[in-house]
Amino acid sequence: MTEFNRIFLRPGKDKPVLQRHPWIFSGAIAGVEDGTADGAIVSVCDRSGAHLGYGYFNGRSRISVRMLSFGDRAVDGALIRERLLSAIEKRKRTGVTVTTNAFRAVFGEGDFLPGLIVDSYDEHLVIQILTLGIERMRETVIGLLEDVYSPHSMYERSDHAGRSIEGLAGRSGQIIGNTPEEIIIRENGLRFIVNVRRGQKTGFFIDQRDNRSLIARISRGRSVLNLFSYTGGFSVAALAGGALEAVSVDVSAPAIQMAERNALLNGLGDRSRGVHADAFEYLRGEDIPYDLIIIDPPAFAKNRESVAAACRGYKELNLQTIKKCRPGALVLTCSCSRFIDMDLFQKVVFGAAADAGRAVSILHTGHHPADHPVSIFCPETAYLKSLLLQVD
Ligand code: SAH
Repeated sequence: MTEFNRIFLRPGKDKPVLQRHPWIFSGAIAGVEDGTADGAIVSVCDRSGAHLGYGYFNGRSRISVRMLSFGDRAVDGALIRERLLSAIEKRKRTGVTVTTNAFRAVFGEGDFLPGLIVDSYDEHLVIQILTLGIERMRETVIGLLEDVYSPHSMYERSDHAGRSIEGLAGRSGQIIGNTPEEIIIRENGLRFIVNVRRGQKTGFFIDQRDNRSLIARISRGRSVLNLFSYTGGFSVAALAGGALEAVSVDVSAPAIQMAERNALLNGLGDRSRGVHADAFEYLRGEDIPYDLIIIDPPAFAKNRESVAAACRGYKELNLQTIKKCRPGALVLTCSCSRFIDMDLFQKVVFGAAADAGRAVSILHTGHHPADHPVSIFCPETAYLKSLLLQVD
């Protein structure tokens, strides 16, 4: 019935596919038709040969197939266009495009386009291709993005370490137009400088927008310590919200310089201070005479194997902070490791609170915002977790 090569699932392994989970792990596959190339679109079949849907294949990856459609819907440019348009609609419906001009326009599995990330910074697009399957459709995807968004420019930051699992080298560079060295974006009334060429990830951690807004609301009259500050997003939000001072700590010198510039850009430079340091060492060495502390480390768990070590890292940060902070202090503690869910993260923070011997309440739990939609079929798309703690 199809010109596509077929892969066959082991008995019982069709259930997640029937439930629209987009990932098929290598262990679920009973057989692959001869000549099926890595990166090719395949017809996914159950053990009896009945077609379940289409996805792209990569025998090198533990996730050997990522599904693009279920049932008979063909995978073509029209399908991708439909998904892009639906993604734009979601951002508009949830008001994201009103509060900011920096948003995630395509969030991989969350927008039913596994392997593709697109961020929009004042209508300059930055794309990140994470899988061989999308790499094979690169020209189509770029053409459609150009058509659907009419962006000022398009830049590629496919330098994610995860590409090596897919057998892909990193690639970054200009695709369309001329992306400025620095783009000034606005978020909830504040302005930030974004360097999409040299910044981390695609340039800015847009996934913390809602938490930055929370911090702005609770900062008045508080002294703020922003650990893992990157370019000072939380510091600027806190100062704009009336914080007495904000200290940004990051191990990256360019990030700290940019944090200072971002504070100045918003007229808040006089109450901002940058510290170029390792946050673990900083916490061990210093007193913490602050009454709002933000802990937003990078993803410590890059895979399932590193979860235990990652938990030790999170525990250490939270233990030192909870132990040393002022009575009544607020702590916003975050984890962006996909392999650590909220349940486990809360247990780690519980362990830290118990060891610190302080009374801790959770005042608020947070997630990434609406431009990072979570597919109900793929709970793994929810990666950012945060707890706002009060420490007495
Ligand atoms: N909260 C930021 C994003 C943080 S991203 C925002 O809202 O924009 C994580 C940051 O941690 C990066 O800037 C990285 O340079 C920094 N980092 C990584 N390891 C670190 C360490 N051991 N000590 C201090 N900073 C670290």
